[in-house]
Order: sequence, then structure tokens, then C-alpha cells
Amino acid sequence: MNADQLLKVQRHKFITILGRVSVEVFESILDHLLAWDLLSWEEYEHVKSPGVLSRSSRNLLDIVTFKGTRACELFILALEDVIHSSQLTDLILGSYKPPEETPESLSSLPSQTLQNHRPNIVRKLHGHVAAVLEILHRYGHFSKYECDEVQLPIYTPSQQARKLLDLTKAKGEDTAQMLLDYIESEPGPIKPIHGNACLKYQEKLSSTLAAQSRFLTNYAGTENMCLEDIYVDCILEVSNIAAAENGCLSFLIGLEDIFGSDGILNKDADTVLITGEAGSGKSTSLQQIQQLWATKRAFQDFTFVFAFSCRRFNFIDKPISLQMLLFEHCCWPDDHQDEVFQYILDHPEEIIFLFDGFDEFKLQFTDEERHCSPSKPTTALNLIFNLLQGNLMKNTKKVMTSRPNAVTAKLRKYLQKEITLKGFSPERIEKFLKKCHSNSSSAERILCFVEANSALHGLCHVPFFCWIVSKCHEQLMQNGSDFARTMTDVYLLILEHFLLHLTYNCQGTNEILQSHIATVLHLGKLALDGLNSCCYIFSAVQLQEAEVSEEDISLGFLVSSHSFSHARNAVNNRNYEFLHITVQCFFAALYVTLNDNVAQSTLRSLFKHRQENPSVCMMSAACCKGWPLYCCQSHEEDKRRSETLLQKAEMSNVQITASFVSGLLSGRHRDQMGKSSLFQKRSKKYRLVKKYLAKCIQKHFVSISPAIGGEKKSLHALPEFVWWIKCIYEMQDNDLAKEAVSKLEVDHLKLTYCGIGPVECTALAYALKHLKSPVGLQLDYNSVGDLGIEQLLPCLDICHSIYLRGNDISDQGVSKLVDRALDSRNLQKIALFHNNLTDACAQNFAKLLKHRDNFLALRLGNNHLTAVGAEVLAEGLKQSNSIQYLGLWGNKIGGAGACALAVALENNTSLLWLSLVGNNVDSRGAKALALMLKKNTVLEELW
Ligand code: ADP
Repeated sequence: MNADQLLKVQRHKFITILGRVSVEVFESILDHLLAWDLLSWEEYEHVKSPGVLSRSSRNLLDIVTFKGTRACELFILALEDVIHSSQLTDLILGSYKPPEETPESLSSLPSQTLQNHRPNIVRKLHGHVAAVLEILHRYGHFSKYECDEVQLPIYTPSQQARKLLDLTKAKGEDTAQMLLDYIESEPGPIKPIHGNACLKYQEKLSSTLAAQSRFLTNYAGTENMCLEDIYVDCILEVSNIAAAENGCLSFLIGLEDIFGSDGILNKDADTVLITGEAGSGKSTSLQQIQQLWATKRAFQDFTFVFAFSCRRFNFIDKPISLQMLLFEHCCWPDDHQDEVFQYILDHPEEIIFLFDGFDEFKLQFTDEERHCSPSKPTTALNLIFNLLQGNLMKNTKKVMTSRPNAVTAKLRKYLQKEITLKGFSPERIEKFLKKCHSNSSSAERILCFVEANSALHGLCHVPFFCWIVSKCHEQLMQNGSDFARTMTDVYLLILEHFLLHLTYNCQGTNEILQSHIATVLHLGKLALDGLNSCCYIFSAVQLQEAEVSEEDISLGFLVSSHSFSHARNAVNNRNYEFLHITVQCFFAALYVTLNDNVAQSTLRSLFKHRQENPSVCMMSAACCKGWPLYCCQSHEEDKRRSETLLQKAEMSNVQITASFVSGLLSGRHRDQMGKSSLFQKRSKKYRLVKKYLAKCIQKHFVSISPAIGGEKKSLHALPEFVWWIKCIYEMQDNDLAKEAVSKLEVDHLKLTYCGIGPVECTALAYALKHLKSPVGLQLDYNSVGDLGIEQLLPCLDICHSIYLRGNDISDQGVSKLVDRALDSRNLQKIALFHNNLTDACAQNFAKLLKHRDNFLALRLGNNHLTAVGAEVLAEGLKQSNSIQYLGLWGNKIGGAGACALAVALENNTSLLWLSLVGNNVDSRGAKALALMLKKNTVLEELW
């Protein structure tokens, strides 16, 4: 496709992308177009005039497309250069490859030179505008009034540079020459000291962040993994009420668009929250933001970026001020500290704060203690909480990551928007494996293996699992496709991998684990004690007390703490953390499973449902201070401690640990764990856990209120329900699954907004397939995706309806779903409102309508079907005499699509309800529908 064709065909998408960028990015595109003489000055003035960005984008597209193919090619080149969004890359790569050469600049006039190099000059003038204006004013080129106007604080530094250039052009060649001279002699002697100090600090900060974020620090113990070599964009979704007004409840964005206008819930707040489950890539995303800024690839509207790990704040026990936080805990300015700090205070809109791991704070968020002074010290937590609220440094951008559990209603009040991180899609799993394995045939082999093992494929949706699978692919492939089905399988794989690395000889898993049992128990004890007290960073003393030796550390599961590097500490006073929080949970689970002294009550408290109680969290924080003391107590004390303290551990960590305990006690792994005497005890633990799980689920079922007159009995599951089901899956015990769900007598199982992704779908299908009678399974607004659909297939036979609204499902997912639905006679209703369906899925549904004579309802609203899809669907409809409800609200079937459906319905005797709302149905379509209604006497409602 030519560039001009691409712009015409995809005009809507280009306008959407342009409409989402910041004014700054839009103006950078204009800089390129001016530099290449693609826009005349008048055209430039026209499109940059203030107003709505989408209107300016339309004007710009009109001008560019009018100028022909070459202009369109250059326009796309400029977009690629400035906008780093995956949506744009997909759009361009999918259909068109732009040329790489840009026009040569020929002019020798100073004003033309300034224009031809405009993008570079804007960048170069960053931080120098005041100095240049001073010279231009001194030599009479600019009035005082003009200087002030250029420097109005409403403009970002780049916008000030552009204002300066625009005014210079209006003044003539002498002024342009003077500006050119300045730029060529840079750095000149007249720059104010203030600008210099800030620039120097910016350089230091960016080189610090560039170095810190270059490698994935959690693997420092084993290898140097460069972020750029492995980074793949995760799925990021914004969903909100504001979006719902545009007929869209959630949509995907790129990491570089997180500050865009999409998804804003509260425009007075400035904190963007990224939530995601453990291992979904939250820390890595923040690391990528740092890397993009520090290497000048994105976020260049911001002068300073300050990055922090919340883990570390738990350890700052002295009061600190904002200045101490920035300078002592992030980057120290070598000189003129006060000027630099003043600049930061004066330019909040140029600052980004990154806070990783909000869920790891020991105390819950509170807004009770107000702190507004940038110079007065307070506790670290209070400082952060006040930054988040905007009591301090209002108008700075803050990006914070957290697991969903820790986000309270109180905190939500201060969020500008909430973004959900949803791991990898199948395409991104492929991209990741290809990035990790430069040899394309071995990447292909691993991918084939993963794709052939459905449960493993589902697990790889979580980036951390994907990394383990990629790292341990040899062991995996040697063991065959059914070897790794559960989360526990995958973590045992990495344990074996690291142990093998340490021993350098080939033993079986049993022997390896047995020969390192002491190491595993030392790390396990450290991990469990840490979880008990919400402690994730361990000092050398703590390690010593848990008997963790240098050799244990060299295994690679403990890494030198990047979130707590005390420059001023002695070398031997290094701190360590587990390479990921889930790894800490895994070792805690190993300890619980392998250690005979772990009491029954510890097991019980792992599986017990607990209300999140803030006062418990507070107590836990108080206990933490004394934590190291616990390490050297006797077994009896050990038991008692575990019994009580697990009550205070962070709930998500308890849940992950319990899932691992279930997996480790499963028949698949019990005997792998060792000798016969211990085996007996583990069998007892297994029976206990099995009993708890069956009891928990049944208690939950008992709590379901009976159906009220005429209505169907419905279970709205508690969040714990999904976790218990995951534990059952980890156990891989069909009898347990059967026992747990067979007594469930409901007609409808509602699991909306429960954070269900492919991994959870695997577990749900494993358990639900044992239900006695069919249910309606409502999974609206989760993260099922195409991968999750694949996982759900085994339980489709036991569903009479499946609701998958807002789950990012595409035609590929639908194709699998329908293939199975053709043979699942129980399944009579499918709802796929608000997914990514296009005309390509219509063929599948037509087939379903034709072949299933008891199929009742199909809801495909808010997707991307056009007349083409509607025509295919109409063919299926002609052959169906069971369908009663067809929802196509919010597609684009137009008049032609409506005509096709009308013809198909003339003789239909089953359809009662049809929605074509929001489909641009014209009068031709309306007439066809009216004619159809003359003949069709069955249809009751037509929207
Ligand atoms: P979280 O903070 O959500 O627990 P992390 O960001 O620590 O998850 O991710 C865990 C691991 O998963 C990383 O160390 C890396 O190996 C892998 N990973 C996460 N996100 C990505 C990504 N976007 N691209 C490549 N690998 C990733």
C-alpha cells in the first residue's frame, strides 16, 4: 500500500493516535514537517493554532494527503520518529514500510537553516532559552515584553524554544544569524549559573538512571540481562467511566501514552496507578520508563525523573524532607543544591516521580496527616503519602505500581487514572521468546513446544513465568509436554535449574533436591520469616541468623538488593532480597512443606479466609522492627511464631504461598521431596490441606442466598473463590476438584472484575468441568484474552451460557471458542460485548448458527464488524431457527449490513430481539428493515 493510501484507509486510526499524544509531541511532528519544507509557514500557523488536538490532527492530515505520496511518506517518517507507540508501529508495519531517507537541506539563509534543523535546535535550546533571550534583548532584537512572553510558565521548555524560533523568523535574517551564532558557539559563556547547575544535575540524574535501568537488576546474582535485549511491551489497559461515555469501557495504550488524556478519572489528581499481579511486569515497566527518559527516547517533556522502590521506604526510620528524599535517596547534585531544588519546586510539571511496589509498604495509605512543607522533615511514608495526594509538589506526574489488593478506596480518591497491566498476549510471548533466543530455529522450537502445551502457554502470559520457561527450556523439552502444567511445576523447574548450575553434574530432580535440602530450608526459613513480618530485604545479620551461607547465596535466588543500596554502608553490610517476591513465597512454601516442625495451625492459617484488617497491618509493622530476633529461637518457639505471625503477612503473599504449598503437596511432587519417614508426614499435610480446601469452597457455597421467586440461583463469587480454585488446580487432584464443586447447585456463576487471566481460566476449567448441572459462567471484565479462551474450552460443555464482555478477545480466540461450541450442546448463549472482533469472526458464528439448532443468543456489541461481517452473519441467520437474541450494538454494519440482515430475517421464525443501535444504518437499511417487518411477525423488539 502507498503512503497516501495508508493515510486514507487508516485515517481514523491515525487521528486517534494523534489525538492521544500530548501537545508537545504534536508540535515535535510539526517541527519535522517544517524542517523538511512539507508545511508552509501559513499551513504551520493554521494547524498549530490552539484548540482540540483531534481537530488539528484532521487539518494536518488533510494538508498532507492533499500534497501527494511523497508528503505522506515523510509524514509517516516524522510520526515514527516522534511517537513511540506500539499502536503506531502495528499500524505502519502491518501495511507499509516507509522509506528511510529524509530531504536534504540546501538553503544558506540563516532563517532557513534554523527551519531545516528545527527539531535538533528545539532540543539544543532546552535549558538555554533564558540565556539566548538575554543576548537577543541586549542587542536590541527582542523587547522585554517579547522575552517575557516566550518564557511564560505555561509553556514547557520545548514550547518556549519553539516560540523563540517562531519570533526569530518574524524578525528577519540578522536575528536568525545571531541565534545561529549562539547555537554554534554553545556552550557560551553567558549562560546563567542556574541553568548550568540544573543541566549538570539533569546529566548526572539521567546517567545514573540509565545505568541503573540498563540491566534487569533482579538477575544480578546469575547473569547480566540487558533490559533492551529482552523488553517486550506488556498489555496495558485503561478502563473507566469517562471512556464509557465514548461508547468504550476500556482500551489498550502504550507505555509512552500513560500521561495521555485517555482514562482520566480525576483530573485534579496527578497520580497514575499501574496495577498488576505479581510477575506481570510492573517493576520492569517502570524500569523501561526510566530507560526511555534517560536515553532520550521518550518522556522528553520532563526535565527530571526520580525513581524509588517502596520496599526501601520501610527502612528509612529517621524523618526526612523532600530535598533529602530526592538528593540523598535518588541522586545528589554536585553543586548549587539550593538552586537545583528551587528549580524543581518552581517547575513541578517538568518532574516525574516513579514509585514501585506500593503494596510493599508496611503501613496502609492514610491521608490523615497533612504535610505541605518541602523543607520540613517528616516520616518517609508520610512524605510519600502527601506527594501522592498532591499536598506537596502538586502538578508533578507520579506513576506508582501496586498489586491490586493494596489499593484501598481511600487511595483511589487521589488517583488520576488506573492502568491495568495484563502481561503478554500470544504475539508478545512469541516476540519475547524470539528476543531471548537469537537463534531463530531454537526460538521457533521453544515456541512450538509452548504452544502445544495449552496450560504452559497460559502460564507464559505472565512475563515472569515466560522468563522461567525460556530459561529452562532444555529441561522442559527433555521432560515432555505434560511436565509443566502448574505454577509449582514451573518454579520447581527453576529451582532444579539453579541447583544444577551449582552442582555441575547430572542428577535427577529428587537427588538434586535431596543433596541441597539444607540450602533450601535455610532460604525457606528466611523467606517465611520475611513474609510473616512483611520483610523483603535482608541484612547480612539476618542472613547469618537464618544460617544462609555464601554458598546458599551463590545459588542465585538471593540477589544484592538494588532497592536498598546504602552507599555509605560498609561493604560487608550488604542487603539481599529474593529475585522476585513470588520466589520468596515459593521458598516459604518449600519450608512449610519440608519442615516437620511446621504446625498444623500454620497450614490452617495459610488457607483461612481473612478479612483485610488495617489494624493487623499496623501491628505487623510494629512487629517487624524486632524481626531478626525471631531467627534464632527454638523449634517450639518457631512453631508458635508461625502460628501467630502468618496472620499478619500480606494477603497476596499468603495466597501465593498457599498455592505453592498445595502444589508441593500434590501427588506429582510429594514423593519428589524426599525420604519415606518424611513422606508420611507430608501425606498427612496433604490430607489436611485437601480438607481445608474442600471445606472453604463448600462454606462459600453454603453462604449463597436462595433464589428469590422466579429468579435463578446465582453465586457472586468472593475473590477468595478464585484463589481456592487455583490451589485445587495446583494439587492436580481430580477427586478433590470433584468433591469441591459437585455440590454446587447454582444456575449462574458470576466472576466479573475478578482479575481472571489465562492462568485462572486453566484452574477454573479444571474444577468447573466437574459440576453436576450446567451453569451460566459470567467472566465479564477480566483479562481472559485468546489464551484464556483456550484454557476454558474443557469446561465449555458444562456451561449453558458464557459471558466474556470486555476481555480483549480477538477473532483467533473466537475461532477456538466456536469450534468447541459446535459440539457443546449445552452452550446456548455467548456474549462477547466489547472485545476486538472483526469481520473475520463472522464466518465462525454463521457456522454456529447453521449447525446448532438449539442456540439462543449471540451478543457481539461494541466490536468492529462492518457490512461485510453482517452479510456473512446473515447467511448463517437464514439457516437458523433457534436464535432468539442477536446484539450488534455499536458496530459499523451500515445500511448494506442492515439490508443483508433484513433479507435473512424475512422468513425467520425464532428471532425475538435484534439490536442495531449505533451502526450508521441509513434510510436504505431502515427501509429494508421495515419491509422485513411486514413479513416477519415473530420479531418483538428491534433497536
Ligand atoms: P512485577 O513487578 O509485576 O512483579 P517484574 O517487572 O518484576 O514483575 O517482572 C518479573 C520478570 O518478568 C522480569 O524480571 C522479567 O524477567 C520479566 N518481565 C516482566 N516484564 C517484562 C517485559 N515487559 N518484557 C520482558 N520481560 C519482562
